[in-house]
Amino acid sequence: MVTRDEHVLVAGGAGFIGSHVCEHLLSTGNRVTCVDSLVTGDITNVSSLLEDPHFRFVEFDIARPLREWPGLEPPGSVLNLASPASPKDYQRLPIETLRVGSRGTEHTLEFAVLHDARFVLTSTSEVYGDPLEHPQRETYRGNVNPIGPRSMYDEAKRYAEALTMAYHRELGADVAIARIFNTYGPRMRADDGRMIPNFITQALSGAPLTVAGTGTQTRSVCYVDDTVAGLLALWRSGLTGPVNIGNPHEMTVRRVAEEIRDVTGTTSELTSIPGAVDDPRRRCPDITVARTELGWSPRVSLREGLQRTVTWFAHSAKSIPPISQASRTS
Ligand code: UDP
Repeated sequence: MVTRDEHVLVAGGAGFIGSHVCEHLLSTGNRVTCVDSLVTGDITNVSSLLEDPHFRFVEFDIARPLREWPGLEPPGSVLNLASPASPKDYQRLPIETLRVGSRGTEHTLEFAVLHDARFVLTSTSEVYGDPLEHPQRETYRGNVNPIGPRSMYDEAKRYAEALTMAYHRELGADVAIARIFNTYGPRMRADDGRMIPNFITQALSGAPLTVAGTGTQTRSVCYVDDTVAGLLALWRSGLTGPVNIGNPHEMTVRRVAEEIRDVTGTTSELTSIPGAVDDPRRRCPDITVARTELGWSPRVSLREGLQRTVTWFAHSAKSIPPISQASRTS
């Protein structure tokens, strides 16, 4: 990986993907200020970095202006990964999710412009909603319910993209937009409600794997190291995007559950639970832009990625009671 040797402010740096971003940036010779409100992030995600003199952790909510934290060193780049990201989290925190997507994006953009820094927004495949075009290209404008149960996240991110482009067009800000598709790996919260942590936690405890609805809805899951490599390739490029970052290997949710059953060797059965409202039926990125413009594509196979993730959950994840059907909210 090319070294940029600069100071990077990572908002949301104590979250699942954010903590991996901080780690990669440090390992390639950059200095990192990680800003996180710890609403859904966790300090233990970056605890191994706290001793590094090139790393600084600041507990702060970017829904407030960054100038309210006077000691922040001017960054060369600002990467904004701050947001609740699992349906269970953003549905229990709807106003905070809208705030961090709107005010949080504005405050990080302002800070980047003030310091003439490159700004990277991590947007999401959720901007495509329940897509009518398949696979999803960056030109697709989406099929989003603006008042539905996912709207706090989808519309916050759509607004964040619009704001990022407004700063680019009106103020000449150096910006990039990454649309991140489903990502999994070590440091996902066992209780974040998403498919992969739920299935792994259930499989490891011998509980049934809760497949929502028919289980024929699809997702395309990308191992976190691949997602981070794509995101940082976009950061290093001069591209504005948006650019889809995800794994184009599409699978049904039932298939993901079966893979996890195989990898864990569990005897757990699959069980059906009610499907979620407005659950996207199909999701798969077209990554032609990332392949051709960034020279990036995912490398880690599903089997390999799941093995690494299961190992982490078995040894390192905070232990929580098995997730039952009754406790699932999304
Ligand atoms: N899902 C499931 N069982 C679970 C959790 C999720 O079948 O215990 C389904 C969910 O309904 C959706 C898919 O898995 O169809 C992916 O959900 P996730 O929450 O991981 O992320 P999303 O892609 O919906 O944001």
